Amino acid sequence: MEQDIKKVLISEEEIREKVAEIGARISEDYAGKNLLMVGILKGSVVFMADLMRAVTTHARIDFMSVSSYGSGTKSSGVVKIVKDLDNNVEGYDLLLVEDILDSGLTLSYLRELLRDRHPNSIKIVTLLNKPARRTADIQPDYCCFEVPDEFVVGYGLDFDERYRNLPYVGVLKEEVYQG
Ligand code: 5GP
Ligand code: MG
Ligand code: MG
Repeated sequence: MEQDIKKVLISEEEIREKVAEIGARISEDYAGKNLLMVGILKGSVVFMADLMRAVTTHARIDFMSVSSYGSGTKSSGVVKIVKDLDNNVEGYDLLLVEDILDSGLTLSYLRELLRDRHPNSIKIVTLLNKPARRTADIQPDYCCFEVPDEFVVGYGLDFDERYRNLPYVGVLKEEVYQG
């Protein structure tokens, strides 16, 4: 697995420090609120597991699964709900937990869909932000790291369902996805 990685972009240590910092900010901002952290499967699971433990105020979690990418590396723009939330979100302060904001198409679609269910508020926390490729009008409210326009894997992010279990974020060698 490691031999498929061109370079480590963000180390375990850097991730640990940043997640603690963002968790502390979220704890302050959501004190006294009705926080529901919504993880977008599957890419957010590793980030969610670490971030939720860095939040020191009351928090609930739920998950949604949407598909937009298949096994390719470019957004199709088509977003399909594969698994919906378990519960009604009315009265909750939603924090959408994402692995990466790339074109932004997935999250802008999801945000509109969830807005129609009348939560108290909706914000976005993302591990990675790739602003160079944004086509939708959407920005993260909390972001751990900005990354260049390269296909990254690890810490939850996959290529063809592999590399999610790498403990760091790295750039995949081109030959791996070019065939
Ligand atoms: P968007 O709709 O913002 O273009 O991206 C939707 C999803 O595409 C992300 O949540 C992520 O799962 C996937 N994605 C976007 N860029 C990358 C990348 O560089 N690496 C990986 N592994 N997935 C990506
Ligand atoms: Mg995702
Ligand atoms: Mg993926």
